[in-house]
Amino acid sequence: MFRKILIANRGEIAVRVIVACKDLGIRTVAVYSEADRDSLHVRYADEALCIGPPRSKDSYLNIPSVISAAEITDVDAIHPGYGFLAEDAGFADVCRESGIKFIGPDVDTIRLMGDKAAARKRARAAGLPILPGSEEPLTSVEEAQSFAKEIGYPVILKAAGGGGGRGMRVVREPGQLGELFHQARHEAALSFHSSAIYLEKYIEGPRHIEFQILGDQYGKVVALGERECSIQRRHQKLIEEAPSPRIDAETRERMCDKLGAAFTEIGYANAGTAEFLMDDSGALHFIELNARIQVEHPITEAVTGIDLVKSQILLAAGEPLSSIVSGRIEPQGHAIECRINAENPKTFVPSAGRITAMHVPGGPGIRVDTAVYSGWFVPPYYDSLIAKLIAHGRDRTEALSRMQRALSMMVIEGISTSIPFHERVLADEDFVLGNYDTHFLERFAKREAAAGVR
Ligand code: ADP
Repeated sequence: MFRKILIANRGEIAVRVIVACKDLGIRTVAVYSEADRDSLHVRYADEALCIGPPRSKDSYLNIPSVISAAEITDVDAIHPGYGFLAEDAGFADVCRESGIKFIGPDVDTIRLMGDKAAARKRARAAGLPILPGSEEPLTSVEEAQSFAKEIGYPVILKAAGGGGGRGMRVVREPGQLGELFHQARHEAALSFHSSAIYLEKYIEGPRHIEFQILGDQYGKVVALGERECSIQRRHQKLIEEAPSPRIDAETRERMCDKLGAAFTEIGYANAGTAEFLMDDSGALHFIELNARIQVEHPITEAVTGIDLVKSQILLAAGEPLSSIVSGRIEPQGHAIECRINAENPKTFVPSAGRITAMHVPGGPGIRVDTAVYSGWFVPPYYDSLIAKLIAHGRDRTEALSRMQRALSMMVIEGISTSIPFHERVLADEDFVLGNYDTHFLERFAKREAAAGVR
């Protein structure tokens, strides 16, 4: 087992990894930027090193600084969390060359999954259903036109190296394709170091459903069930739940078996998330694989009882999957997560500043993952996620009422947060009925505007 792990991240996920290390009796090293000197991950870790100025590219994304910190502190392994360097194959490669275990899948798998067009092709070869579209990057507008004609409009152009919901263009008719093709290529080149784009069928109002997978180093992979993440704003998830209100036990079992077989064939090791879109008929189509821990992992932890971050560490250290998961996993009860962002709950504009008062709710079924506290200054340089509120209940109704109770008791003063937004969504009739898709929030905003909600 590892003696000491460096956490190449900040915020709630850095604290989450420290929690797992403490539970395993492993020493921890935090790295931090000048803006994060007083942050909780620094306080909780056994050792901490400043790795640079506030801007991510000068600190959390600075590979030589992170590797030097790991060498100075003599760690055995690095946990990358999510975001920053988590899916950077180059970073995983440097770790390997430096003799430091990267806690995640191997370099080749990260590289494969980082190219969404290649990942689609590989997933299809492994027996997963994908949306019709191009399997190689598009080389010309004419080629895009012939694919679009074959599969029928609307189609969506996506950056092969894309992420974070950026670099996508929906094309509704042939006349728009030329212009949107160039726009998508341009945006891809600017944002993701590669101008490669591909095309797939666009589904109107899909549900976003993803499956958690875990694999060991001996070729065994299991899928632990699904999360539904259709409550999105600009393709960014805001509320997630497990299980999905639209997946029955039979579908779950079939999908988990299929995914276990597919990712065994791919040779996937460690934690990953296979993302799917569900169309009107209930059919699921693979869109991408995230080769890391996800923000919304706690809802799966709640309904499976499996500590996913601890599992990542154990699997990276060479533990067999059989020591973590035994038999088929059935979800126990229901869990919901609300992402609490430091932002205006109406305009969604990020809100940096000092937290003047804070109270975190508790009570049965409530978990809060956060790294902020009263007196902390929320810096403007990073993602606006400041806390995750997770409610678990014996069924969806209990999980919902626990979440409503916790939201009403959570206090964060001095900055604006998305708490009031979550309270409004949780009171919405369609949401309560589980009647929603990825366009829910657009309809919700229109309804609120019409009703004069400010
Ligand atoms: P990213 O890697 O940037 O997160 P994804 O491929 O995971 O991008 O897609 C993010 C979101 O965009 C999905 O959850 C869905 O809401 C929307 N989306 C992506 N592909 C399609 C599609 N083919 N049809 C309809 N919506 C899509």
